[in-house]
Amino acid sequence: MEQSQIDTLRQLLDNRGLHLRFPDPLEGEFQQDYTQRYHSHMIISGLLGVLAILGCGVIDPFWMPEQSSELWQLRIMTAVPVLIVLMISKTRLAMAHMQPIVAFCACLFVACVVGLSLKSIVPFNYFYAGSITMVMLVVFVLTRLQFVWGCIAAVIMLAIVNIGYVHIGNADLKMIVAVNFISVSSAIFSLLGTFLVERSLRQNYLQSRLLSFENSDLGEANLRLQYMTAIDGLTQIANRRSLDTTLGTEWQRAMRKQEPLGVVMIDVDHFKLYNDTYGHQAGDECLREVAGTLKDFTRRPGDLAARYGGEEFVLILTNNTPQQARIVAERVRDKILALGIPNQRSSHGNVTASLGVASMIPTAQATGPEVLLLAADQALYRAKRTGRNRVAVDGEPDDTQSVA
Ligand code: GH3
Ligand code: MG
Ligand code: MG
Repeated sequence: MEQSQIDTLRQLLDNRGLHLRFPDPLEGEFQQDYTQRYHSHMIISGLLGVLAILGCGVIDPFWMPEQSSELWQLRIMTAVPVLIVLMISKTRLAMAHMQPIVAFCACLFVACVVGLSLKSIVPFNYFYAGSITMVMLVVFVLTRLQFVWGCIAAVIMLAIVNIGYVHIGNADLKMIVAVNFISVSSAIFSLLGTFLVERSLRQNYLQSRLLSFENSDLGEANLRLQYMTAIDGLTQIANRRSLDTTLGTEWQRAMRKQEPLGVVMIDVDHFKLYNDTYGHQAGDECLREVAGTLKDFTRRPGDLAARYGGEEFVLILTNNTPQQARIVAERVRDKILALGIPNQRSSHGNVTASLGVASMIPTAQATGPEVLLLAADQALYRAKRTGRNRVAVDGEPDDTQSVA
């Protein structure tokens, strides 16, 4: 997450005044989120509107039998397009234009109610005229129509109301004034509510965006920290801490399964001399190459190559008998020699390593994985003592060791 994006969000949160719209592309993302979040609001209010329009029609035949069929035509002409819009409302096109679609449906409902009022007889026409307020309330409170589209819809609704009553209905002045008073005041209060609700929804959106960015930053920092505490900085393989943890886990697993757990301890030969001859930086590079080689020998999930410290490394080999671990250790020794890192102070002409191998099936009596490490260390000491560049296995006599 870029700091500039976090700063922009903070700035918007602190100081937006009466301005609703966000700068692009944040506005686009907000609209997308808004549509997803409030799609169900639009569906529910649309259905409620259709239900109300059709539901009131049930009493038409009792109230106004002569006008009933004409009124039903109006109801159907409104309900059908709204239901079609609701059916296609999940399409990509509809989702991208949700606000104008809601505004259009809202105007349709108002037109319908005005029509019903004009075609009804006294006093039912007043009932429908009063329903304009209801429609506005439903539209502005339930649909989550945003302020800008609310204003546009309100202007169109007022136009519809006036065209209806003044030009089509030839209503008297009292009726026109009354209807305008109701409609304009409903629109103003509804829009005020819409503005306040949208403003706080936008604030919430900014806050949740900021929080999620800060959380993901924290998550990344956590991962980095976890990596740093588990990985050796120089060689980029597991460090001593990871070795201890993994060894403990694998020891327990091997004890449960009664499988042999193998470890190989690797120590670069005459490394002090190597450093003295080629310099410390070359020494570092040599350690990196040796470590890279060790990684290739971890094949099973619990296997691990770790830097034990200095020029010493450890390989954990799960489910490996001493004989199997010895074969791996011999390959490691070969591979380190085959790296061909020149070392004029070695009788082989190249960097070599000595390896100590130990493997055992853990038992509850054994004090822990330290005994395994100790056994491997003692074998390594024997490998050093008997000439270096060789593998010694715990429990096997020296004369069975391989010599390069
Ligand atoms: P041996 O064959 O008996 O193992 O002899 P050695 O010289 O390898 O062993 P010794 O313990 O005497 O010396 C280890 C050397 O490893 C000493 C130290 O300077 C060097 N060393 C330890 N850590 C690092 C490191 O991170 N980078 C470099 N370049 N050298 C290191
Ligand atoms: Mg050493
Ligand atoms: Mg050494």
